[in-house]
Order: sequence, then structure tokens, then C-alpha cells
Amino acid sequence: MIHLQQLLSNSVESISLTAVIDTALCVGAGGSSGSLADKPIVRTAEGKLLIPASQLKGRLRHECEKLARGLGWYICQSPNPQTMCPQRAGFPEEEERHFDRNDDYRVPEDERYHCLICQMFGNPTLPSRVIFDDLICEEDPENLPEVLRPGVTINRRRGTAEEKKLYFLETSPANAQLKFKGEIHLRQNCPDYTKAMILAGLHHIKALGGSKSAGLGWLHWEKFNQDLVAEIDWQLLLPKGKK
Ligand SMILES: [Zn+2]
Repeated sequence: MIHLQQLLSNSVESISLTAVIDTALCVGAGGSSGSLADKPIVRTAEGKLLIPASQLKGRLRHECEKLARGLGWYICQSPNPQTMCPQRAGFPEEEERHFDRNDDYRVPEDERYHCLICQMFGNPTLPSRVIFDDLICEEDPENLPEVLRPGVTINRRRGTAEEKKLYFLETSPANAQLKFKGEIHLRQNCPDYTKAMILAGLHHIKALGGSKSAGLGWLHWEKFNQDLVAEIDWQLLLPKGKK
């Protein structure tokens, strides 16, 4: 069993996040929640809109993977456990050799090698060192009308709308600049580069939820405190020899 309080008491620091939704948000839960929509939006028990922690964590991991590879680190292939650290099935042999030559891929008290992303976000054998909150919209649900958007399923082969495949998406109201707030908690044993990597990754998340191509879910982050990451911490993102 996971004791959240215990996990959080181990955290040294938290990053406060505010996502401002520029269009309308559509984070569907699948299954009905008393809404008329086929894909209703996710809400807290009090009916407040939310962006699930798992969704934010998944997107951020993906962005951080791209960044780290771009910087010259060797990063495993998520989310399939076999191709992730420490197994890394099918990982190119010449790249695999870099792992046992570089202490940056070591974790205290673990014999195996883990890429930088696994060291932060975890893998099937390594617990995550960052814990995500759901991002919650504090706006009173009473003030937010339920918005339904009709859509049709398109047949990809024929490029035409399928008959009898009309569906409804529930979204947040459009252009309401709704704010979703939450925190990312860094545990005591998280790597030194964690904050810098997370902030860099967040800059690349411009939208969340489904139907981005239909203009839904576009967002920006409220400005982060400049002092959050010291100049020296940004240097940690560069592999040795590239500084
Ligand atoms: Zn990995």
C-alpha cells in the first residue's frame, strides 16, 4: 500500500504549477459520469474540473525524453517495460556501452543502470522520484456551464463521415482562461538536474487532453519563479564533455 503522506513528507521541494487554458479543454474519462456527453470531462468529487496527474506526468516524461536525447543522453524507450531501463531490449549495442562507462547512469544502492529520465520518473523496478498532483480548476462548477461539442467519426480509408457515428465531447467553456493548479513534489533522493529538466519539459507542453487538432486544450503556464533553478543547475543537463 502507498501512504501518500509518508511519500510527501520525504519531499524536499515542490514546484507550483498553474496552467491557463487558452481554448477549451477536453480531458475525457471515458465511461459516463452523469453527463450527456459520450466523452465527459474529468471532475473531482466536488464537481471541479481537473487534469489528471497521470496525464500531465505522461506528457512531461515524453517531452523530457525528447529534450534529453537532443542534449546527447542515452534514453530508453518508454512506455513498454521490456524496452525501458533496466532491461532496454533492442537498445543499440554501441549506445548500451555508454551506460556502464558513465556514473551519471548509476543510482545509489542499485547495481543496474538507469537513464536520466527513469531516474526521475521511475520504471517498473525504480520508484518515481517526482510525484504529481492532479491540476484542479478552483472555479465553482456552478459558474461553468456544461459544453457539448458534436463530432463525427471519420472513416480514414474513404475520408468521409461514418453514418450513425455522431458523438458528443464535453469540454470546458471556450476562451474562459480557466486556471488549473497543482504541484509537482520532488523527493529527497531525486537527481540534482530534476528541477531544470522539469521546467524545460513544461515549456514544450502547449496543449493537454484530446482533440488538439480541433483546437481544444491549448494552454500556457503561468510564469515560474526565476530563482527556482540556479544557473549552475542548468549545466547539469549537459552530458560531461559537452559543457
Ligand atoms: Zn530509462
